[in-house]
Amino acid sequence: MFEIDKSMPVMVTGAAGYVAGRLVERLLDEGLTVHATVRSVDNHERVGHLSALAETKLGTIKLFEADLLEEGSFAEAANGCQIIFHTASPFFTDFKDPQKELVDPAVKGTRNVLDAASNTQSVTRVVVTSSCAAVYGDNCDAKNKPNFTMSEADWNVTSSLVHNSYHYSKVMAERAAWEVSEAQSQWQLVTINPSFVFGPGVKMDLSSESTQVTKMFGDGSAEAGMPNMYTGLIDVRDLAEAHFRAGFNPEASGRYIISGSNVPFAEIISALAEKYAGQYPLPKRTIPKFLVWLVAPMSGMTRRFASRNIGHIVNVDNSKSIRELGMTYRPLGETVQEGFQQLIDAGVFKK
Ligand code: NAP
Repeated sequence: MFEIDKSMPVMVTGAAGYVAGRLVERLLDEGLTVHATVRSVDNHERVGHLSALAETKLGTIKLFEADLLEEGSFAEAANGCQIIFHTASPFFTDFKDPQKELVDPAVKGTRNVLDAASNTQSVTRVVVTSSCAAVYGDNCDAKNKPNFTMSEADWNVTSSLVHNSYHYSKVMAERAAWEVSEAQSQWQLVTINPSFVFGPGVKMDLSSESTQVTKMFGDGSAEAGMPNMYTGLIDVRDLAEAHFRAGFNPEASGRYIISGSNVPFAEIISALAEKYAGQYPLPKRTIPKFLVWLVAPMSGMTRRFASRNIGHIVNVDNSKSIRELGMTYRPLGETVQEGFQQLIDAGVFKK
């Protein structure tokens, strides 16, 4: 496909995360040396699987401690690397101070990692894991687009510190990345903009938001029904492949929306029902929008979010990834069923 220099290491930030796990695996499969940054090398429960994974693969792994908020933190891990994959960024919904807990680590962390790239002569490319959250904020942002479709040309201009704070952290971080990139010429920036990530990680990890959503489908908490929400969906293994290609394909450039399907949540539930109906308390119906809007404040959702997202179709355009990275995408059923099965196998659901 393209030549890969295996003599130089590559760096992955946030290596213990859900998305990064499959990327580390992909790089190790290729026989590469991976400099994996984690917040604590001594947290065996969080990072132990990485060294275990490397034992079964061609490549090797070295763990480094680094924190997004600590200046200079990534210098040691970056030393000698050709490519930096920057996946680390806070992704959670339960926060009190969005500036401190989401935006600062996302934006300052991205600048920190890019500074490490600039201070390391061997780095020629940086792949930043951004998000479709940097492309649009609310689903209704797509209402005037042809076929409700968002592309790499679009930027999220509707999120703020108080509305879709996580989305805001991602768009601010990606904007910072492009700003730093344009001020230098040593390395080239490519961003990966995934839609919502599903499917089995290298290990079952309930701290991941993606895993939490999969869990909600089967633990009974959404049995009464789900709001009529549309989303893009990407398999975590396909996402790893996209990062890999964005890193090593010399022709890759700019932003890439990485997404396998555009679906209403009801279609995800149908795919699960094909295999698991009657065995687990899957969501039974779609809840009418007015009802969701009415109870929104009691269910941790703002009415503004409900109004601007529920029932609004949004599609993301993955054609650039197919054309330029040669991406192919797994079918939705395979992704959601195999992700769900990982939780069953780990004993997460009580029958
Ligand atoms: P995750 O499992 O929660 O991983 C996030 C990673 O970020 C963790 O490894 C975490 O480190 C690291 N991190 C957070 N704060 C940090 C800090 N202050 N210093 C150093 N590391 C820090 O989430 P994920 O789903 O894999 O997300 C990975 C990336 O994909 C993120 O950039 C996210 O925005 C993006 N993304 C995810 C989705 C999705 O649906 N999952 C969709 C689009 C984009 P610890 O291991 O130490 O906790």
